[in-house]
Amino acid sequence: MPSIPHGGRLVSVKQVEPTPEKVKDMLEGPKVRVSYETQVTIFNIANSVFSPLQGFMNEEDYQNVLDNMRLQDDTPWTIPLLLHVPMDFSAASGDIISLVDERDLPVASLECEQIYEISKKEFAMKVFGTEDAAHPGVAKTYSSTGRVLAGKLLKTAKFSSNSFEDCTLVPKETRVLFNEKGWKDIIAFQTRNAPHIGHEYVQKAGLSFADGLFINPVLGKKKSGDFTDQVIVDAYRALTRNYYPKNSVVLSVLHYEMQYAGPKEAVMHAIMRKNFGCTHIAIGRDHAGVGNYYGPYAAHDIFKEFPDLGIQAIFMREFFYCNKCVGVANEKICPHAETDRLTFSGTKLRKMFLSGETPPKEFMRPEVSQVILKAKNAFVE
Ligand SMILES: [Zn+2]
Repeated sequence: MPSIPHGGRLVSVKQVEPTPEKVKDMLEGPKVRVSYETQVTIFNIANSVFSPLQGFMNEEDYQNVLDNMRLQDDTPWTIPLLLHVPMDFSAASGDIISLVDERDLPVASLECEQIYEISKKEFAMKVFGTEDAAHPGVAKTYSSTGRVLAGKLLKTAKFSSNSFEDCTLVPKETRVLFNEKGWKDIIAFQTRNAPHIGHEYVQKAGLSFADGLFINPVLGKKKSGDFTDQVIVDAYRALTRNYYPKNSVVLSVLHYEMQYAGPKEAVMHAIMRKNFGCTHIAIGRDHAGVGNYYGPYAAHDIFKEFPDLGIQAIFMREFFYCNKCVGVANEKICPHAETDRLTFSGTKLRKMFLSGETPPKEFMRPEVSQVILKAKNAFVE
């Protein structure tokens, strides 16, 4: 059985076709223009990825999440979900707000609960563990208005990212699929990379005890030098087709912008995958980290705070190729020296690809390398 949704149930927000007739009533009331990223968040809320949240957080939930990593009702939650509005925007409790895109087309209607202001420094410190503006999540926080609108989504216009529609499954779809396959234990793998051998071994270590593997690459805004979305999807298709048993993998993408909040984001990654129906999630070294802001295994330790999370984190050590073992190993199973080991470094791989070199097959499957070498734009500029 897939796991129980976070908070006990999947939320359901009415979604309508974006035809002028059907969205007419969504344009009544004060307007708030939202970014593409917020549209993606709204799509995720409406499709239960963020269950039990049905909208954007009120001040009590917000403060409780910052201070205790839980919603007011004690449900684990580590990163506030906020909707920033212009400093001069105001509305009263009960007002229906129209959320529109950059072309003023309706995205959603929301019932205002309250408007409040946050301390951006407190947010940065408590979520990212730093006030350093060089951290991408902190920089984003500082560039926001700090004035936020809380409320439930009433209705959304069906949103299409116009990309990867054929492999974007939402929680109610994955749950049906996992059931149909008869999977009980499903392990989620979060990624924002094309897979090298190290990733494959983490996934297969998980698959060794689970019934199925849910590979869920995150697509969206990335850092310069990251793999492009298309390459990640194509690379995974090539890998799973050639190296995984039939019927052992579901590959589906998640439109979501990384926040680089390290341990706190690792917990959110687990919560989202629990909503998809996964019972386990692989948490790797420096999961969702950036730079040197977090200890390499801080994202493992945080899970001790959540015995009631409802999805089991599986802590994975990094895999490497060991010349003495003559195979892929990790610290827990290989006794040999660093000099015998070839680590799977993303930076090293990127350099090889940029100079047109094919990485050795101990490093990356040839079928995956081919996808990257043949791609017009393998990396984000
Ligand atoms: Zn070894």
